[in-house]
Amino acid sequence: MKVLHQSLQQIACIADNVDPLASKRELFDLPEGVIYLDGNSLGALPKICKQRAIEVINQQWGTDLISSWNTHNWIDLPHVVGEKIAPIIGAQAGQTLCCDSISVNLFKVLSGALKMQVNRSLVLSQSDNFPTDLYMVQGLTSLVGEQHCKLKLVAEDDIAPSLNSEVAVLMLTHVNFRSGCIHDMKRLTQMAHEQGILVIWDLAHSAGAVELALDECEVDFAVGCTYKYLNGGPGAPGFIYVAKRHQRHFQQPLYGWMGHASPFAFDKHYQASPTISQNLTGTPAILSMSVLDAALSVFDNIEMRLIREKSIKLTEFFIQCLSELELNETLALSSPQDPTKRGSQISVAHKDAYAICQALIDEGVIADFRAPDILRFGFTPLYTRHIDVLNAAIRLGEIVNSRRYDQARFREKAKVT
Ligand SMILES: *Cc1c(COP(=O)(O)O)cnc(C)c1O
Repeated sequence: MKVLHQSLQQIACIADNVDPLASKRELFDLPEGVIYLDGNSLGALPKICKQRAIEVINQQWGTDLISSWNTHNWIDLPHVVGEKIAPIIGAQAGQTLCCDSISVNLFKVLSGALKMQVNRSLVLSQSDNFPTDLYMVQGLTSLVGEQHCKLKLVAEDDIAPSLNSEVAVLMLTHVNFRSGCIHDMKRLTQMAHEQGILVIWDLAHSAGAVELALDECEVDFAVGCTYKYLNGGPGAPGFIYVAKRHQRHFQQPLYGWMGHASPFAFDKHYQASPTISQNLTGTPAILSMSVLDAALSVFDNIEMRLIREKSIKLTEFFIQCLSELELNETLALSSPQDPTKRGSQISVAHKDAYAICQALIDEGVIADFRAPDILRFGFTPLYTRHIDVLNAAIRLGEIVNSRRYDQARFREKAKVT
């Protein structure tokens, strides 16, 4: 075992030494003695966020008070932040806005897209999509009736064959939250368009982790969150993308005053802004949006290609470690074997995945569990090193082989898993 560890350690050290993103780790505040492999659920804290939070609280809110809407440009923050997210998702200016959550933004694009379709009401999605995505369609159905919005769920392999002229909207999550399986965005979007279908992509597990080219793929609409790989902090606001070509026809139903063509005219009739601003509903959450704005600066001057390349190296190395430590029989890989077909995570299945995850956390390796039996490891290229990957795999091996996880205290389910 020792010899094996040493050779893996050598591989890790070499990989870390030549890593072009190595210096980015210093931009984050990472707790001592913890290997954090859950950046796909809550990104770690960029140091600069602390300064920004203090400045916004003390100076902007505390001292400059309401004048900050103008002097500190709070009013444009949803656009400013949206434009910082745009290059990360492959979008030209004027199409991305920071606001609300994925759930609420999905409601907007779903309703608006369905309204743009004539005589079609079917929303096609994947059975194992993230629940909130499916719930938002179900909620919309309960509001407008099945004749206007009807959800059809199919398995991953049946998506392409189900694209026909009855479908109004194809709504998919780009990287599956359980398996990490990545869809071919360009191909599916094109196939859908050939049938007159509008396409909505959920980028929750993609933005900040994989290369995206929304404009190039001619995506119609997209939504995403910023607290995962974009490190915006717990509950940080999400984003919405509406392709420029749709902005004049698209109308989302949450007629908030901030989405009005001229909010400060206080007109009693709603008139949607003809720009991406229409997607603002109410007043933006300035505190968390400011922290997110600061967090995004860690992506300044970074090519997403480098992030993707490192992400693939990390996930490949984790699989190599599992295999060389002879864990790959006990822990069945539920992510695709082909690195180009998976996002920045590795999921393995085990009937005691929950207890194993708790035992890992107890020993300083933070991963997470997804029902029913998935142990999920997220690899954030900006702050995860190969040596962390190896040490996590070694500890995982010790826990599994010794059955140290087999204790009552590791089986107690917390509210958040
Ligand atoms: C994390 C996640 C969400 C979360 O939605 P919120 O409204 O931001 O809570 C939605 N969809 C997917 C695919 C996710 O992974």
